[in-house]
Amino acid sequence: MLEAAQQAGIKPNPDFNGAEQEGTGFYQFTTNRGRRWSSAAAFLSDAKNRKNLTIVTEAHTTRILFQGTRATGVEFRTPQGLQVAHAGREIVVSGGTYGSPHLLQLSGLGPADHLTELGIPVVRDIPGVGAHLHDHFNMYSTYRLTRHASLNDLAASLPRRLASGARYLFTRHGLLATTGLFVGAFVRSDPALERPDIQINISAWSTGERSRNGINPHPFPGVTISPVHLRPEGRGHVRAISPDPLVAPEIRFNFLASDYDMRALVFGIKLCRRIAAQPALAPWIAEEIMPGAAIQSDADLEDVVRERGVSNNHPVGTCRMGQDPRAVVDARLRVYGIQGLRVADASVMPAIIAGNTNAPTIMIGEKAAAMILQDATG
Ligand SMILES: Cc1cc2nc3c(=O)[nH]c(=O)nc-3n(C[C@H](O)[C@H](O)[C@H](O)COP(=O)(O)OP(=O)(O)OC[C@H]3O[C@@H](n4cnc5c(N)ncnc54)[C@H](O)[C@@H]3O)c2cc1C
Repeated sequence: MLEAAQQAGIKPNPDFNGAEQEGTGFYQFTTNRGRRWSSAAAFLSDAKNRKNLTIVTEAHTTRILFQGTRATGVEFRTPQGLQVAHAGREIVVSGGTYGSPHLLQLSGLGPADHLTELGIPVVRDIPGVGAHLHDHFNMYSTYRLTRHASLNDLAASLPRRLASGARYLFTRHGLLATTGLFVGAFVRSDPALERPDIQINISAWSTGERSRNGINPHPFPGVTISPVHLRPEGRGHVRAISPDPLVAPEIRFNFLASDYDMRALVFGIKLCRRIAAQPALAPWIAEEIMPGAAIQSDADLEDVVRERGVSNNHPVGTCRMGQDPRAVVDARLRVYGIQGLRVADASVMPAIIAGNTNAPTIMIGEKAAAMILQDATG
């Protein structure tokens, strides 16, 4: 796959996190001993026995409490009922790009006219809360392989599954210790751009149906070469639709809002095809399943993008950091006009980074921790 990407004209890059992002190479992962290394595992498990830390699980925060414009505590629901936690010094909201703006809105921080419509008393009119939602946008092109060489084989064969399961269990190695996505590329959809705006994910598996019920691999060997638009122009919103905190908010992305958003993805699909056609990969490819060889014109490709394109699960921007009137937090992650309240998660990103969001969000957490400590100790 790596060879094919290079044969398609993409230069090799040994470290996407190094001096330069552009090129093709192997991904790095947030994993440890064959498992995805969540921030809870990495940071919380060692600290959980500290006397000054209380962790409450199965708790849904429903409201931030205020005295005037100072945040003083939170109200949260647990199976034991509604509870309140009072803040000694400050509150840090880390509910993610959907949860944080929703909680702020339910608490009276958001666009005043909208909150008033819902009957939520306004603590402060902050029009940017919930605005500016954006995400990478993702298409898939899938290929049937001529021979068994993909992770699909695991789903199709019980003996292979058992062997892989046993290997993983006893050694934490093997296919199950991987994401199945080893290689990728960062490229520019237009040479006039200064930096890459397309990521190509090359996965050693392919799926037929993705639905609420799960993701089902094809019953034959396959790979996925997937273009992701990293710098979309469309902006959407997360908006409470009820004062009831357990009613999910409206989430609207407005993907493909501009010609550029569409053009970049059509370029991406064509590049995926070019990679699949290279000498290093072509002998392995039996046929293109999606979009399918019959789909050739730009208009047809655009239809497929509209029909099959999906969020890349990297949403950001709904409590945007900035210095303009629509920004929600300042450079130290403090909510404008409110005392004792910060937001620290992916929602503060002013513009989505052109790469995966998990590690940068952990960085935001680390940076927030350093600033909180600094502010507390003067
Ligand atoms: C399926 C999937 C695959 C992904 N794969 C990758 C990947 O391979 N690489 C990568 O870099 N990124 C990946 N991401 C993106 C990455 O997970 C996110 O960018 C990152 O987790 C964002 O962190 P966060 O702290 O902002 O939000 P989250 O991780 O979403 O954390 C917010 C937490 O707050 C909780 N919460 C929200 N509201 C409330 C409330 N009112 N009360 C109590 N709790 C609340 C939520 O339940 C959640 O646990 C993926 C995301 C998804 C969904």
